[in-house]
Amino acid sequence: MDFRDSPEEAAFRDRLRAWLSVHASEFPSSGDEYWTRQGEWHRALYEAGFFGLSWPREYGGQELPPVYDVIVDEELARAGAPPRPSLGYLVVGLGRHGSKELQRRFLPGMINGTERWCQGFSEPGAGSDLASLTTTATRDGDNYVVHGHKIWTSYSDVADWCLLLARTDPDAKRHRGLSAFIISMKQPGVQQRPLRMMNGVTTEFGQVFLDGATVPADQMVGAPGDGWAIAMTVVGHEREPSTLGYAARYGKLVRQLAARSDGPVSDELRWAAVQTEMLTHHVRRRLSEQLDGVLHGPDGSLDKLLMTWVEQTVGHAALAVGGTEDPDLLSAYLYSRAQSVMGGTSQIQKNIIAARILGL
Ligand SMILES: Cc1cc2nc3c(=O)[nH]c(=O)nc-3n(C[C@H](O)[C@H](O)[C@H](O)COP(=O)(O)OP(=O)(O)OC[C@H]3O[C@@H](n4cnc5c(N)ncnc54)[C@H](O)[C@@H]3O)c2cc1C
Repeated sequence: MDFRDSPEEAAFRDRLRAWLSVHASEFPSSGDEYWTRQGEWHRALYEAGFFGLSWPREYGGQELPPVYDVIVDEELARAGAPPRPSLGYLVVGLGRHGSKELQRRFLPGMINGTERWCQGFSEPGAGSDLASLTTTATRDGDNYVVHGHKIWTSYSDVADWCLLLARTDPDAKRHRGLSAFIISMKQPGVQQRPLRMMNGVTTEFGQVFLDGATVPADQMVGAPGDGWAIAMTVVGHEREPSTLGYAARYGKLVRQLAARSDGPVSDELRWAAVQTEMLTHHVRRRLSEQLDGVLHGPDGSLDKLLMTWVEQTVGHAALAVGGTEDPDLLSAYLYSRAQSVMGGTSQIQKNIIAARILGL
């Protein structure tokens, strides 16, 4: 495959570069400030025509090939701008399992950023073993009434809506009794408490207490008992190659670290440079498969594992160069530790690869 831009892609890239040269510096790209202003950033990108590019026109996207998302990721990294808000897994989840009415009602606001979302799957006793979750949703007339406790819910402090996984049939076996809902976060039965991350950020995620919160029955996504299938679609797409646009971001950090290193380059930094290059080639291969219409199933676990290794190697290199004195490099290292946990841990990805790809 020829990875050079087509004339249309080159024109798009130029337009984006020109826009970023004016607006990138207006938005912080890390720390609490980044998370606080992420919604503003999302809307600014969307309004300028640089977000939701590969999603259906009907819902506010532009139906462009996914290569345009990669161009956006590359140019945002190059400009030192904040990353592209990550929502693809929710768009795919709702697009694949939601009714036409739910898609029409919720996808436009999700894509254009006027409505913020979070994903309420994990609980204190249910992370890797998600099917053991205990939050319940009980039918009461036209509504379901929800009780439970979610944790590590990214964007819970600002979210208007949550894609919630709850147990609707306590008698059915584990994952068969689960259903998914679109529940309003702005109601008296929902309480959100922020959690402080080890890099000091307090606005990325929180825990959510549901105590008699209600959700209309027609905001169930799919049918009762479909929750597990929906959850698997969503977490499968959290690992898709499109999110690997981060390769450009890692590459930029590696180049910055190399420029700062005086004397011999450390082994950590050498290894980070090699791995980042390898990831870039992997992303391109995945992208060309995607453009050829190849659908990925459990292979997403390979992508996620590879991305985690690279981000953590780059994190180690940042620590080797900056020590603990440079707050930005220390934060890059600390944040990289979360990669092997979020969206399914590395051990779980290895289990999926063993069972579903290698057939062990
Ligand atoms: C930055 C960040 C953002 C997140 N955002 C969200 C969000 O928006 N919404 C949401 O619902 N959740 C979110 N999560 C939660 C995340 O999905 C869970 O933390 C993750 O699934 C692991 O669950 P756990 O923390 O309960 O760990 P556990 O499942 O308790 O795992 C503990 C350890 O045991 C290992 N382990 C567990 N089971 C097995 C097994 N079968 N085989 C081998 N090893 C095993 C794990 O790999 C891990 O090392 C987020 C997490 C992070 C770090």
